[in-house]
Amino acid sequence: MRGPFAYREGRLSAGPVALAEIAAAVGTPVFVYSADGILARYRDIAGALARERLEATVCYAVKANPHLAIVSALAAAGAGADVVSAGELLRARRAGVPGGRIVFAGVGKTEAEMAAGLEAGILQFNVESEAELVILDRVARDKGLQAPVALRVNPDVDARTHAKITTGTSENKFGIDHAQAGRVARLAHELPGIDLQGLAVHIGSQLVDLAPYGLAFEKVAQLFAELRASGLPLRRLDLGGGIGISYRDERPPEVADYARLAARTVGHLGVPLIFEPGRWMVGDAGVLLTRVLFVKQGAAKRFLIVDAAMNDLIRPTLYDAWHDIVPLERPEPEAPGGPVDVVGPICESGDIFAADRALPPMAAGDLLAICSAGAYGATMSSTYNSRLPAPEVLVGGADWAVIKARPDHATLLAQEWVPRWATQAFRGEVEGEEPQASGSRAAS
Ligand SMILES: *Cc1c(COP(=O)(O)O)cnc(C)c1O
Repeated sequence: MRGPFAYREGRLSAGPVALAEIAAAVGTPVFVYSADGILARYRDIAGALARERLEATVCYAVKANPHLAIVSALAAAGAGADVVSAGELLRARRAGVPGGRIVFAGVGKTEAEMAAGLEAGILQFNVESEAELVILDRVARDKGLQAPVALRVNPDVDARTHAKITTGTSENKFGIDHAQAGRVARLAHELPGIDLQGLAVHIGSQLVDLAPYGLAFEKVAQLFAELRASGLPLRRLDLGGGIGISYRDERPPEVADYARLAARTVGHLGVPLIFEPGRWMVGDAGVLLTRVLFVKQGAAKRFLIVDAAMNDLIRPTLYDAWHDIVPLERPEPEAPGGPVDVVGPICESGDIFAADRALPPMAAGDLLAICSAGAYGATMSSTYNSRLPAPEVLVGGADWAVIKARPDHATLLAQEWVPRWATQAFRGEVEGEEPQASGSRAAS
């Protein structure tokens, strides 16, 4: 089993807590996260970096799983935050992350977001274009402040990950082209509202190979050294996130090797470092529990129709991602496995969690865990098909708590408003007729 989940007395559990107990109490679908698993990851990476004698701040990439309880737990353990919007900034602050440990990234910050970052006294803005730099300079000067800035450079290195999550090649929208970085850095240094402090690099997500990291880190280290030698006061380097996890049979790097690589490639610069892991911190520490609604034997395939869907976890649909799917009750070792498609109820053929997956025999009512759902799961969910967002549960030691309840339909409907004229305009199309009457007449 993956991450902090294991079978205990035949029942899939997080520590002493059987997941079936949570499913019974809260209903399905439901996300379950292990706080112990998440904090263990934080300790692992912080420890690995410390052993390499690197002065480093681990700024958790909030977008991977932005729940306040998770960001709060990490903040209490000492982590900083990497945020990409005003909403994430607010979350990080609410979770107790000090402004001085917050990095604000993203290619499209609005002026309001820049202002919010300045007011929060964040550690740095990772600036991704000259145009952004010019606006940030003005926003900061309007407030009588200087914006602390790291320029995000695009090292043109292929992270060899899924096309939708590769960010460090010249084809991607991210970062400042390596060849332009020197000029933009000098501009940043001259702008009175900008305090150029460092460089940043982030080449993609779900990296399972250290080699692209090595190339990117070496390139950015060389640029850093050159710019510093030319007189720019660079004093911090942000190496981004992206460490992969094993969804299927990938062999992601050991965090000790990753830390060693960082020490070897940028350690000689002697500056404080920032790391922005997201997925690696929380991905394995979450599962999505779902119940089998029906078993359907089609002409060519056998389907398990489950009560979770692509609106809850879009990764299989969006990235063709593999997620392990396991029964909450440990199957007999000799149980005959048959290939099934595990699908959700949504009216899209893309609403599929697994195709031709070998699973032990399952019946309606049985419970399954979709593994490695702690990152880019709930946070990418929607209410498509007017489905209610899945609740979220956090397990810590022998305790568990619902950290986000399933809303009811009335609450969601109350967010929508029908202006009076919307229905009047429709009626007006057929003079003097009720819409239903006109419809029935057209049909006759
Ligand atoms: C998404 C993102 C991260 C986190 O990526 P993971 O693959 O989840 O570690 C870190 N930094 C930046 C700039 C990002 O956009």
